[in-house]
Amino acid sequence: MTMPVRQSLRIGGYLLRQKLAGREKFPLIVELEPLFACNLACAGCGKIQHPASVLKQRMPVQQALDAIEECGAPMVSIAGGEPLMHPEIDVLVAELIKRRKYVFLCTNALLIPRKLDKFAPSRYFAWAVHIDGLKERHDASVCKDGVFEQAAGAIRECQRRGFRVTTNTTFFNTDTPQTVIDVLNYLNDDLGIDEMQISPAYAYEKAPDQEHFLGVTETRELFRKAFAGGNRRRWRLNHSPLFLDFLEGKADFSCTAWGIPSYSLFGWQRPCYLMSDGYAKTYRELVETTDWEAYGRGRDPRCANCMAHCGYEPSAVFATTASLRESLRALRGG
Ligand code: SF4
Ligand code: SF4
Repeated sequence: MTMPVRQSLRIGGYLLRQKLAGREKFPLIVELEPLFACNLACAGCGKIQHPASVLKQRMPVQQALDAIEECGAPMVSIAGGEPLMHPEIDVLVAELIKRRKYVFLCTNALLIPRKLDKFAPSRYFAWAVHIDGLKERHDASVCKDGVFEQAAGAIRECQRRGFRVTTNTTFFNTDTPQTVIDVLNYLNDDLGIDEMQISPAYAYEKAPDQEHFLGVTETRELFRKAFAGGNRRRWRLNHSPLFLDFLEGKADFSCTAWGIPSYSLFGWQRPCYLMSDGYAKTYRELVETTDWEAYGRGRDPRCANCMAHCGYEPSAVFATTASLRESLRALRGG
């Protein structure tokens, strides 16, 4: 990943400690979902379909902190729903930073102008703004006009105030190599985003739009063409080189979803934040009571088209740390 050096060293040290302790399964980053409610209703979203009684719930800050402490992950990605709708989101972020966790706050950015004063720049904190394409494409993806301009404006304001800003872009089968290139060029060159995360959309069973998810072959072709001509090297992508190889079809891995587990209002989601085969009370229980061999492409039909980072980025990171050559390549930025 093209993360700052200090952060890379912390994560490297964490991985080494797990190895020395003989731990086989441990979390790299937690997907923390302290609420499911959102102020948008994207057609590809699998989170906002919960009943109203669930959508109105907010996770208490202490519950979230206890879960993060128990699992020990060095990084936390706060998602939802829209986390900025949580009344104590600033308190949660501040408490995590106090515990020296690297926090990514995933947001559609609409509430940033109203909430920005509650946050302060920190090397432990980054905004992760959801941008699925240029204006027309993004507004269509979030099913609302004007959201792209508002998100771009919010990003510029965060940058002006000294925050680290990352983005999160999901691609569907309506994308072409050129739409991928256009949006990543814009984020990289025009907006000057610190690091960009990309993902092929996962076919959530509950998402209203089931027609536009990418298959594995389509995903590989899309990224292979988009990455060509030096683009991949030029873009500041927030992924390990091996995960980018995986997206292009140059490498393949087994799913290691326990490396990016999800903790929500219901508990630790089994096996990952994309699928729910029940919940565990603790991360330890999740790891020990899940049949991990039953999941992944070729094992569970629901995983057939999944190339999501929550299943395969940890696999790529573990493969990187197991190889001196790959570690040096990752340090050089791929
Ligand atoms: S912004 Fe995110 S959480 Fe909200 S509806 Fe869209 S995909 Fe779902
Ligand atoms: S392949 Fe892994 S990450 Fe993807 S849906 Fe299946 S269990 Fe989840």
